[in-house]
Amino acid sequence: MEELTFLPTTRGHVLWAGIVALLILAGFAAVWPNVNLPLPQITPFLPMFSTAIFATESMTALLLGMQFVIFRRPYLGVLGGAYAFVAIIAIIQLLVFPGVFSPTGWLHAGPQSAIWIWVFWHGGFAFFVLLSSTIKRYFDRRVMESSHTVGFALLSVGIPLACAGLLSFVAINHAEQLPPLLVNNSYRLLASNPSALAVVLINLITFLTVISTSRCRTVLDVWLCVALLAATCDVVMTINAGARYTAGWYMARCLALTSSASVLSMLLWELNRLYRNLSAAHEKLTEYSIRDGLTGIYNRRFFDQRYGAEVERASRSGRPVSILMADVDWFKAFNDTFGHQAGDACLIAVAQALDRDAASAGGFVARYGGEEFAVVLPNTDRDTATAVSERIRGAIAALRIPAPPNDLQGNSRDSGIVTLSIGAATQDHSMDNSHKLLNAADQALYMAKHSGRNRVCFAALRPSPL
Ligand code: GH3
Ligand code: MG
Ligand code: MG
Repeated sequence: MEELTFLPTTRGHVLWAGIVALLILAGFAAVWPNVNLPLPQITPFLPMFSTAIFATESMTALLLGMQFVIFRRPYLGVLGGAYAFVAIIAIIQLLVFPGVFSPTGWLHAGPQSAIWIWVFWHGGFAFFVLLSSTIKRYFDRRVMESSHTVGFALLSVGIPLACAGLLSFVAINHAEQLPPLLVNNSYRLLASNPSALAVVLINLITFLTVISTSRCRTVLDVWLCVALLAATCDVVMTINAGARYTAGWYMARCLALTSSASVLSMLLWELNRLYRNLSAAHEKLTEYSIRDGLTGIYNRRFFDQRYGAEVERASRSGRPVSILMADVDWFKAFNDTFGHQAGDACLIAVAQALDRDAASAGGFVARYGGEEFAVVLPNTDRDTATAVSERIRGAIAALRIPAPPNDLQGNSRDSGIVTLSIGAATQDHSMDNSHKLLNAADQALYMAKHSGRNRVCFAALRPSPL
């Protein structure tokens, strides 16, 4: 199976990623002149935003984690951990955000808690992505021992989750020991605090590192770059937004959502594409497994599957079913005279003619073995089966494939062309099982051979038991 996260970049991905990147930059540039513009406080906005972030980030973490478990590339586990980190910290921030669940936020949070969680969130995500990118750079395609996979998966998710919990704990319970970032709902102190600069820098460094080390070789690299571009614009805009619920603040949240959805959209898109490819490959494989390699018509396996079912269906419905066993006359002599390649070409021509006639009679033909073919004709009574058999015999003669002048014993043959002998049988109440019907047709073929070949013989209505 193709490795989802190793799929090489396609033009389509570059185009779409380029469009999304341009939209991110355009949105950023459009809002920048009015970044401080106060807008109405839409109370449901933040719960909706955080829930969306939680959903997309946790799904991305899950998909990347599954990719890690399948392909055992350590950097995938760490990248999944980065997304798990954001999923958890975004929900914790929602719980403590003033005015959402209570005027001051849940968990006895202080006024600085939510904003410090924002700092840890945006710094932490970039840090874990940088870690993943570094691991990828130095251990590029190294596959981890399968015995270590579960342990590493637990660590790569557990450590970011523990960090999210610990950092949130510090922001909630020890916010007063940290420098204040929010005064009277203003971000002025945030903008001048070194932590803000650190968050911008680590996002920028991660963005540039991922671009330069990955060179956007895979679709994951491309969309990770888009996610990091949006994340960098998000932090720059939030820091300069001046306060909560300004144009810049709202825009930054939209950028965060774009960042969050980029990799997930790519993973879902590619999963869907791989699923489609897999299903097409499966269909092709199924088709190959029932086709004869030389002639392209159905093979014995298909015959064995379908023939019994057709006879059973006919028994249930009370409708007749006929079977024709057709065998190329003197084919060994043909091979011995013209060679096996010519023999193969002859079999292909005969099979194609049989296929056309069987299909036009509402049935199907399968290569039963060697130069022997079986035609199954559902809903076909004895008279119609006789007519179809004669038509088939005539069609093979009409191919006018030259035959050797003598048979193997050296007796001369008068037809001069390749011919077919056919034994036919139609199901009646005495042949209510598929084996008996097949035996009857086989006996009829034997009769056709012994009474001179190039003819159709019908099984006696009540064949004697074999
Ligand atoms: P009859 O009229 O009694 O059927 O005589 P025959 O020579 O056709 O019958 P026989 O069973 O003696 O020979 C069948 C030949 O078919 C032998 C084998 O070499 C040939 N044959 C079977 N499968 C293939 C194939 O895939 N390609 C070619 N070229 N020959 C094949
Ligand atoms: Mg033969
Ligand atoms: Mg034969």
